[in-house]
Amino acid sequence: MADWIQRIRDVPDFPKPGIVFKDIMPMLADPAANAAAIEALAAPWRETPIDAVMAIEARGFLLGAPLARELGVGLVPVRKPGKLPGRVIEQRYALEYGEDALQVQADALPPGSRVLLVDDVLATGGTLAAARGLAEALQAEVVGAAVLLEIAFLGGRSRWNGGAPLRAAWVP
Ligand code: AMP
Repeated sequence: MADWIQRIRDVPDFPKPGIVFKDIMPMLADPAANAAAIEALAAPWRETPIDAVMAIEARGFLLGAPLARELGVGLVPVRKPGKLPGRVIEQRYALEYGEDALQVQADALPPGSRVLLVDDVLATGGTLAAARGLAEALQAEVVGAAVLLEIAFLGGRSRWNGGAPLRAAWVP
């Protein structure tokens, strides 16, 4: 198993009972592990023409920014409501209990831009689906999604229906 994977920690019962939280902070704190993780995230996309990485708040930023730098493309943040100035587009999505929303700036990308969505963990897939909705509202072309880790038994991949590949650097 790669060293960067060994630096991801399982935290039982966080943020609530029954959830096993995948904590990437020890990995981020280790420069060699962090660099190897970004390399693993970038590797499948190096031959894909991409204009921008769309990274999802907040841990998606920690991976998306270095990934965009690595691929030599721009970064578009997808944020929780109320954080981005100017005109924004919003997408609501269901959580296990209740609802949440993500926003992107309406002028973030020219129509037709080729974007790669990035987050740390794919769980039920609702977050990534909402981010894809935002990219489509911007008339961007979603070339794929990159996550560091996929929790396969939660079935998030089934909500990613569509032609663009969804690639996980690690599926435990
Ligand atoms: P989901 O929308 O259910 O796919 O959840 C994905 C989002 O929630 C990502 O932004 C993750 O950072 C976070 N997340 C969900 N489950 C976990 C988990 N078990 N460990 C760490 N992060 C998680």
